[in-house]
Amino acid sequence: MNIVAPSPTVRTTCPYCGVGCGVLATPDSAGGATIAGDEAHPANHGRLCSKGAALGETLSLGTRLLHPMLRKGGSKDAALARTDWDSALGQVAEGFSRILERDGPNAIAFYLSGQLLTEDYYVANKLMKGFLGSANVDTNSRLCMASSVAGHRRAFGADIVPGLYQDLDEAELIVLAGSNAAWCHPVLFRRMQESRRARGAKLVVIDPRRTATAEEADLHLPIRPGMDATLFAGLLVRLADRDTFDRRYVERYTSGFEAALARATELAPDIATVARTSGLDAADVRAFYDLFAATPRVVTCYSQGVNQSAQGTDKVNAIINCHLATGRIGRPGMGPFSLTGQPNAMGGREVGGLANQLAAHMSFSPPEIDRVRRFWNAPRIATHEGLKAVQMFEAIERGEIKALWVMATNPAASLPRAGAVRAALAKLELFVASDNVRSNDTVNAGAHVLLPAAAWGEKDGTVTNSERRISRQRAFLPLPGEARPDWWIVSAVARRMGFAKDFDYASAADVFREHAALSAFENDGARDFDLGALAAIEDAAYDALAPVVWPVRDGANGDTRFFAEGGFFTPDRKARFVAPEAPALRGATSELYPFVLNTGRVRDQWHTMTRSGLSPRLGAHTPEPFVEVHPADARRIGLGDFARVETAHGEGVFRVRVSAGQQAGALFVPIHWNGETASSSRACDLVAPHTDPYSGQPESKATPAAIAPVAFAWRGFALTRASFVPPPDAWWARVALTGGIGTLLATNERPVLWRDRVAALLRSADRENGSEIAEYIDTRRGIYRAASFHAGRLEGALFLGPADAAPQWDAIKALLELAQLGATERRLALSGRAADGIVETGPVICACFGVGLGVIREAITSRAATNVEAIGKALRAGTNCGSCLPELKRIVHEHAHAS
Ligand code: SF4
Repeated sequence: MNIVAPSPTVRTTCPYCGVGCGVLATPDSAGGATIAGDEAHPANHGRLCSKGAALGETLSLGTRLLHPMLRKGGSKDAALARTDWDSALGQVAEGFSRILERDGPNAIAFYLSGQLLTEDYYVANKLMKGFLGSANVDTNSRLCMASSVAGHRRAFGADIVPGLYQDLDEAELIVLAGSNAAWCHPVLFRRMQESRRARGAKLVVIDPRRTATAEEADLHLPIRPGMDATLFAGLLVRLADRDTFDRRYVERYTSGFEAALARATELAPDIATVARTSGLDAADVRAFYDLFAATPRVVTCYSQGVNQSAQGTDKVNAIINCHLATGRIGRPGMGPFSLTGQPNAMGGREVGGLANQLAAHMSFSPPEIDRVRRFWNAPRIATHEGLKAVQMFEAIERGEIKALWVMATNPAASLPRAGAVRAALAKLELFVASDNVRSNDTVNAGAHVLLPAAAWGEKDGTVTNSERRISRQRAFLPLPGEARPDWWIVSAVARRMGFAKDFDYASAADVFREHAALSAFENDGARDFDLGALAAIEDAAYDALAPVVWPVRDGANGDTRFFAEGGFFTPDRKARFVAPEAPALRGATSELYPFVLNTGRVRDQWHTMTRSGLSPRLGAHTPEPFVEVHPADARRIGLGDFARVETAHGEGVFRVRVSAGQQAGALFVPIHWNGETASSSRACDLVAPHTDPYSGQPESKATPAAIAPVAFAWRGFALTRASFVPPPDAWWARVALTGGIGTLLATNERPVLWRDRVAALLRSADRENGSEIAEYIDTRRGIYRAASFHAGRLEGALFLGPADAAPQWDAIKALLELAQLGATERRLALSGRAADGIVETGPVICACFGVGLGVIREAITSRAATNVEAIGKALRAGTNCGSCLPELKRIVHEHAHAS
């Protein structure tokens, strides 16, 4: 195995979004590291967003899986027990071999992740598709960008993002479709904002919600959910009418224009029809079309709002059609641009980690199968596509798939109909999970074997970002416990299954060389993905590899754009216009489910929070799961603080956020919370499993739903050093705090009845060692407070009170950080009230400098700082990563409006 020697500062990449920012990590010799942006990395030039900047807070080992574990006897009800690698690997190899032999390749599956490094992905894909004979290898990237992959392949003949981030610097118009880039790709969004400031570039945002991104736009089009293809069909009709139509490009380099235009004309004959169908103002539609037509340098970025749809592929192609019709593709400042959600979704696509790809951007045509078979010397190569994510878990539910290996992802929380997924997992004969956490919804759904995988900071390999740039992720921490890299784990299983010589990798570099060699094998320019120039890279050069955009072949000059002069990867080398179907949501609203439920991300969390949830800084921005609802709907339904959201697939209880940025009739719920972090707020339990026919991507943004108020008589919180498990009928949400854990609570059980349970909890400080408990009980008003102290520090506290005067933790939670409490702090621990003159911080707006809403409001009210620049000077808020700038603007605006 390749062990990286400790180094003062290590160049690596961020493990979160597809921007792929370069990170400088300096280990502190105590298991942590100082994190900074890498100024030399072309993706971010030194900048990090709030999530990247807080990476140093996520390195602790408290939640880590450090040793292999086995469920003895195989029963899901048996306890997991520590075992050794030999036994665990033997169990996995024997189980897969047995089931493969008995039931054939359709009975086994791997479910992978865009969090894996390319080398991990390559080895897993090779084992399953080349040696076990099944293409049932899919990935959580299916939920993220599969519609972009399918759209690219339909239009270009290959899965290529034609442009580069540099195009955002050079564009005069940036269109963001279904992308809340200010929160989900923050560093790239800053880059767009700089281009606007420096060059006057315009920004159009197409999104049903008025997001932080939309608030910054020159023009926001609050489109009706699902209607993007109509909007872009109307644009194609307009472009075909105008000088901007590039007849030379269309005739020379494309096919299918007339059919696509005829369909577009059916769907969107005029602006009035587009406006009516899309729920937009006709003047706004005209303004968008005029701007697009008049601006040669236009980049259209699209993300989950386009992809996560049962018609996502058509939406992608409707966008690409407009760029092909104008020839605005592959040239500086121009092109369609898919913004990838995950750090290595692109790397997964490159190795073929999707069930409908074979390897290295090759599919399942007979010549491609034969080529890969010969390269791998594969004894049992898969000969047809496998099951895509949603269908894979449906096959598990039906008992057809009997053995599953989940790597680095949490499908029991993130797939549509997640409750049914958990039930399906419990039916598996063999359920293997390799992960770096001991507990998550998937592991807890009954995994028989847990394999401890290396986490960010320990892994060594490569990732590819949204602009095709391959960067090294380098280890800067030693492997803890018995954790191992995923490529090592998969190779070890493969060797035990009889494939020793084909999986005899000594390092990630070894795997990378083979991956690069396959990309170049019998290629000769016929395939887009080609790393031929790296196929013989030596270990030292691999270690030092600078970020590089593919293709990387001899004669290619780096930072390549595609298609300015055709050269598509279709049989006739022409791009294909695609005629989209008429837009329609798959699930219709009804009397029972009258709302459309949208799901998505919040600014400071990532996926199911296994990493970002460890950071107190990140948890302070949005500490609890919520449902966002339009004010008119909230009034009509009589919503208070909490609501139950229900669909045909599940239900959950969420805090209510009323927002005029939400469309009437629509709801929004964030995807992050799960069984580890909240009592009953898993967004994906609610999501319908409808999928796009080409991409298999689920329609995660439009499930028919109902919402109803939920009342809790009592509210409060617990502050503890370790996890606090509230009673089953309480609502709770857990958040990391510096020095401990905060649990927000809502209950209908009288606070004083919590006394026994709480006393036991607070005694966790070990009463025999001299812990003390102080209590305050007001039975008339229904207030119960307790605090526990040990050796002069606060061990825990519980505050419960009436919902209309709910206790706040702002003043008290910082006490967990103090090693010794004085008399004033001890009083505060029981009163919860801030001392006179101290402003309660409220939810944190600027995560970089921990500046809370209360402090910002105080600065505005006292006129110490009344605009964003002045707030930056006075409080530093918004002066580092800039992720909070849209919110700062909104706060200033709201205040100006109110005064
Ligand atoms: Fe990481 Fe933020 Fe950069 Fe995305 S934008 S890669 S989350 S630092």
